[in-house]
Amino acid sequence: MSEMKKGSISVETQNIFPIIKRWLYSEKDIFLREIVSNATDAITKMKRLSSLGQIPATDEAYRIDITLDKAEKTITVSDNGIGMSEEELTKYICQIALSGAVDFVQKYEDKNDTAAGGIIGHFGLGFYSAFMVSETVEILTKSYTDAPAVHWICSDADEYQIELDEREAGRGTTIVMHIASDEEEYLNAFKLQAILDKYCSFMPVEIFFKEIGEEKADGEVAEEKPINDTTPLWQKNASECSPEEYNAFYKKVFADYKDPLFYIHINADYPLNFKGILFFPNITNDFESLEGQVKLYYNQVFVADNIKEVIPEYMLMLKGVLDCPELPLNVSRSYLQTNSYVSKLSAHIVKKVADKLNALCNTDRENYEKIWEGIKVFVEYACIRDRKFYERVKDSLLLKLTDGSHVTFKNYLEEAKEKHENTVYYTSDKALQARYISLFEEEGIRVASFEKAVETQFLSALEQNMENVKFVRVDADVASALKTGETTEENEELVALFRKVSGNEKLQVKLEALKSAKTPAILNLDENARRFEDMMRMYNNAEVPVGLAKEGETLVLNTASTLITKLAEDLKAKNNERAEKLAAHIYRLSVISQRRLTAEEMQDFLDESFSLLEEI
Ligand code: ADP
Repeated sequence: MSEMKKGSISVETQNIFPIIKRWLYSEKDIFLREIVSNATDAITKMKRLSSLGQIPATDEAYRIDITLDKAEKTITVSDNGIGMSEEELTKYICQIALSGAVDFVQKYEDKNDTAAGGIIGHFGLGFYSAFMVSETVEILTKSYTDAPAVHWICSDADEYQIELDEREAGRGTTIVMHIASDEEEYLNAFKLQAILDKYCSFMPVEIFFKEIGEEKADGEVAEEKPINDTTPLWQKNASECSPEEYNAFYKKVFADYKDPLFYIHINADYPLNFKGILFFPNITNDFESLEGQVKLYYNQVFVADNIKEVIPEYMLMLKGVLDCPELPLNVSRSYLQTNSYVSKLSAHIVKKVADKLNALCNTDRENYEKIWEGIKVFVEYACIRDRKFYERVKDSLLLKLTDGSHVTFKNYLEEAKEKHENTVYYTSDKALQARYISLFEEEGIRVASFEKAVETQFLSALEQNMENVKFVRVDADVASALKTGETTEENEELVALFRKVSGNEKLQVKLEALKSAKTPAILNLDENARRFEDMMRMYNNAEVPVGLAKEGETLVLNTASTLITKLAEDLKAKNNERAEKLAAHIYRLSVISQRRLTAEEMQDFLDESFSLLEEI
């Protein structure tokens, strides 16, 4: 019989088990990750010894076995790693691991910091986290040296026993967790499988999971398959990975059925030392959650989801995996927020995203144009939020034109030099503003097409960033390129007539000779007045009445049009009644192509139109 020793897990007078149990009850799942990653470490150490030639090379396969035994109410984790001698077990488990767990618990116990809890919970208590779900834990371990095997058993009543174990034991460690009666939900294969999927999918040693009693009845041995992928894509070199592999990896890890729009494989060594792949999801409708998912790993061990600190807020729609062996394990959220490694990591990611956009724009233009509509909201938003990012990608920003084609801002402005230097003409509604658009396009001026609300904010940001550049909506101003350049005679009578029929004595009326004779009059609304109205509408929803910015309206009468000439003649001939009817109708039609009519205007417009019809 070997000698049996006893010891106590109490620290001073306090038993740590109740604290461990209370600690992070919502994060209990991590116990399995902790135990399995210890097993992985033990195997990694073994591999290292063998590669250093300190132990004879074997062709033995390294593996970790997880077994669920419902009848015995146990979960067992076995590895064929380095193992421990009695001395090591006493030192590492009863002293070092214990004081580590105590330190950890004491450090965070009093902090009722829920923000921190969200992330600390992902980091482990080490071996002692097994007690979050177990009433008794056994360790059976045999060192790779010729030291005898050791059996340790400890219940949460805080006493442990340790004895040499003379049974034949293979090298390695087996941890048997006797699940506590109030934690029996863990005795469920689906639950364990889900935890393993979350935390252990990419661990570097093959992991096998089975449930005792669930083997095939007919004695046929099912092919054994590890539950994890020991060489995840991010550990490979980008040159070794195919687009199909990236897409498959993305779909599996992020449970998306669509391929990502593009991906970025980062392999940073000095001084940052991290690996990762970021994916730009293909978000096709507004209802999809824009919340991205960046999973943080520590040497292939899953640490946490959605770590907002490592990625700037404006890039949160990215999905991806980051493996950062440099991050300390016991971190708090405030640590991440102030840590300089984390901010460098974040800056590096932003730079990589910008590099990728530039590379796509320069070398894969066709594809870039295709995905632009899917990414532009994010790119534009990022430009608004981060001037540096804007500076990096400014030559790769695209403008969509009314015919659906794309051009870079840079090209647009270069082309525009002659006709409308530094002005980008745009439309926010191709149908409503069709008349204005055609006025521009007939003169060879390309019109950009903006749709989303963010774009008006993006415009202001761009105007601040790009010196001198102005964005002007097609209905805001008559570009000089649209005019013949002929001087027009003033006509007080005509101006007075339009003021009268519009019911607005202050209406600004201008006479211009346009190159296009088709349109008798257009109503312009000053760009700034309109942006103000848009903004009001954005903040006050629909309550802002139409025509709020009326004061910024200018009616441009086209002296080149036959209708306006006719009107002028009527006025001269004192044919006032007809002139008034004509003018009223021209005015309403020009309003209609600029904005919605107010209720009153609509009534007048219908009355005028019907009375015109009567005359036919
Ligand atoms: P950590 O893993 O952070 O060092 P733990 O409390 O998880 O802390 O484990 C304490 C120590 O116990 C480990 O550093 C290791 O030396 C030893 N240990 C734990 N599990 C195993 C195992 N499966 N095989 C060999 N040694 C182990």
